[in-house]
Amino acid sequence: MKNEFADIVIPLAVAGSYTYRIPSHLSGKVIRGSRVAVPFGPRRIYTGLVIKVHGTPPENFIPRDISDVIQTSGMMNDRFLDFLSWLADYYLSHPGEVLKAAIPSSDDTPGRSLTREELHVIATPAFMAEMAGEGGNLMARAPRQREIADTYIRLLLQTGLTPPGFVKRSDLVKASGGISSTLNAMTAKGLFRIEAREITAITDESQISPPAALSLPQDEAYENIKRLFRDHEVVLLHGVTSSGKTELYIHLIREQLEQGKQVLYMLPEIALTTQIIERLRKHFGAAIEIYHSRMTTKSRMDIWERVNRAAGDDRLNLVLGVRSSLFLPFADLGLVIVDEEHDSSYKQYDPSPRYHARDAAMMLSRIHGARTLLGSATPSLESYHNAVTGRYGLVELKTRFGDVMMPAMMLADTREAGRRKAMSSHFAPQMLNAVEEALMKGEQVILFQNRRGFSPYIICSECGWVPGCTNCSVSYTYHKGIDKMVCHYCGKSEKPPHSCEACGSTGLVTRGFGTEKIEEEIKLIFPSATVARMDQDTTRGRNSHSIILSDFAGGATDILIGTQMISKGLDFENLTVVGILDADSMLHFPDFRAYERSFQMMEQVSGRAGRRTRRGKVIIQTGDPSHMILKQVLKHDYRAMYLTQLEERELFGYPPFTRLIRITLKHRDMTRLNQSAARFAVTLRKRLGKAVLGPEYPHVKQVQKWFLKTVLVKLGRDLSASKVKEMIRAAMEAEIKLSGNSGLRINADVDPQ
Ligand code: ADP
Ligand code: ZN
Ligand code: ZN
Repeated sequence: MKNEFADIVIPLAVAGSYTYRIPSHLSGKVIRGSRVAVPFGPRRIYTGLVIKVHGTPPENFIPRDISDVIQTSGMMNDRFLDFLSWLADYYLSHPGEVLKAAIPSSDDTPGRSLTREELHVIATPAFMAEMAGEGGNLMARAPRQREIADTYIRLLLQTGLTPPGFVKRSDLVKASGGISSTLNAMTAKGLFRIEAREITAITDESQISPPAALSLPQDEAYENIKRLFRDHEVVLLHGVTSSGKTELYIHLIREQLEQGKQVLYMLPEIALTTQIIERLRKHFGAAIEIYHSRMTTKSRMDIWERVNRAAGDDRLNLVLGVRSSLFLPFADLGLVIVDEEHDSSYKQYDPSPRYHARDAAMMLSRIHGARTLLGSATPSLESYHNAVTGRYGLVELKTRFGDVMMPAMMLADTREAGRRKAMSSHFAPQMLNAVEEALMKGEQVILFQNRRGFSPYIICSECGWVPGCTNCSVSYTYHKGIDKMVCHYCGKSEKPPHSCEACGSTGLVTRGFGTEKIEEEIKLIFPSATVARMDQDTTRGRNSHSIILSDFAGGATDILIGTQMISKGLDFENLTVVGILDADSMLHFPDFRAYERSFQMMEQVSGRAGRRTRRGKVIIQTGDPSHMILKQVLKHDYRAMYLTQLEERELFGYPPFTRLIRITLKHRDMTRLNQSAARFAVTLRKRLGKAVLGPEYPHVKQVQKWFLKTVLVKLGRDLSASKVKEMIRAAMEAEIKLSGNSGLRINADVDPQ
């Protein structure tokens, strides 16, 4: 029997693999792991992945020929293929979908590299003319601009250069006393040009410094991690904010690299990678690369190829990445670090595969015979439970490095202040006092509000009518800067109406507050402070993200207002006061994880305050100061939060006591949706009985004109998840057929977050 057939997975949302014939001129070149071009459908050619080569012709069709071989092998090692097939099985996904997520494809939107670039300033010919006294006096009545111009020249001269030359923007802002707006004005006048330039990695060995000496508690933690790794695949490092978790990672990484092993260091967001990378480069120089999906396909392919080389063959052994870095075909991993392991950004929502990068990382590690280190100041309940019950090793670091005190926590009762008429708009007196005090001492402030826009809804003060999106069942958020109502689900926007569409009244008012409103009001209250805002709306521009952060780090901004984007991982020297403006909306979010999430969010954002020498201060605004979670946050009492929440989870049958699979059915026609959802639930109930809940409408029941219904399956830990999943998969396929292919869509989310 000649091996003239190959089973090939095509990166599409189609089930299974397809058999093709290997034409004789390609035989020998097509092996497991080869990438090949194959015809698919009437005209199209796709790049597929060979998962099996065999001699069995398909039974009921004549196979088509493979058109060409793109890459013979090497790109896809066995471990990588095992990992992909595990993902498809576990997350009820198709191998084609997994492959599509895994392979950097050339039809991606042109990516960009955020990583090794930093903003630089360079003088323009207009600037040079100005300096030579030949211009039109662009800086005549602007002494601050003069100063910046002088500083620019001084910085260049210091490095032995003369203008025009590149100076790091952050250096210039810092050296000139940090007025970013003046610099922006000069750029607008055409005196300076801003350019993102690549920073060359340290290649000079002499510039690489050894890891810092560990403190006593750190050293103990380090030894414990290594000891626990002897008989645990996974160790959870629970260390309070600023305890030196990153420092421990550096030590562990070095040890792996010395043994010639590979390390993957995962973070939940790109923004965090840009801060951590500078720290890592000091120790690992050019031996580390960042990987994320916004990079160009070319740089991704380059890393892809370098991690898959044989040992010693100039292999890339250290990658810092976000969740997609799991899909790199590592040759020989020794350690995977999942930092901020509790973070829900590790979960992929759409498209399929809806994987959880933390959980998938543990499987990837296992396939490599490697170890996984989970790190967090506020571990997920699931991970902590696994650690407490002995499935994972547990190592705790309870004090901050240098014995800096945890920030002092304080509640501001907004309801009580409201009764006393002591609120200034949305701010309690304690909040404003703390901000004022910090500003007077020249310290910095972060104000956290997890909602963007001006106000979350507009309401008719006569009849209560609320304008909402016509594609989705949600109210519009009002954005004042653009004077539009925007749907945060589908992006649709409209001008706000002049009068109520229900009763005709002109008494339309805004309610609640988002970051935009906070920014407007804080500027009025503290007119001499420099205020910046960081949320999805202010970070659309190419470099906006790094400008906001570097201005804050450099002291150019006094008050930074932001959403969860500013809550995690960031390390600012001069930040002492953190204000949490609305604890209640987090606590009342309709989800069984709302309390856990609120604790994590508040603890994380608090952790940004007072990380170096001065003790930080955190003010939390709430109308419900006796709330259990708030009491736990005040004492930084993770353990109490864990115990109380665990009890609730057990009582109501939620993870970690059960596994959840959420199936979402979508249809543009509500009647058909209801029919299908009801029938689907009956099918599942026949097999799974009480484990099946629903169908019901989710919190938002219509998105982009699709009506949604969900069925939740709660599995006891005793049931075999893989059998149940097979059954669910079959029921999903059956329902699509029963609905007569009428436009019904069904997807499953395993371990929804
Ligand atoms: P975490 O990751 O737990 O938030 P970090 O590793 O960022 O903590 O440490 C907090 C701060 O303390 C950082 O500025 C770090 O450089 C410093 N630090 C931590 N451990 C040490 C050490 N052993 N020697 C010197 N500085 C340290
Ligand atoms: Zn009305
Ligand atoms: Zn919408």
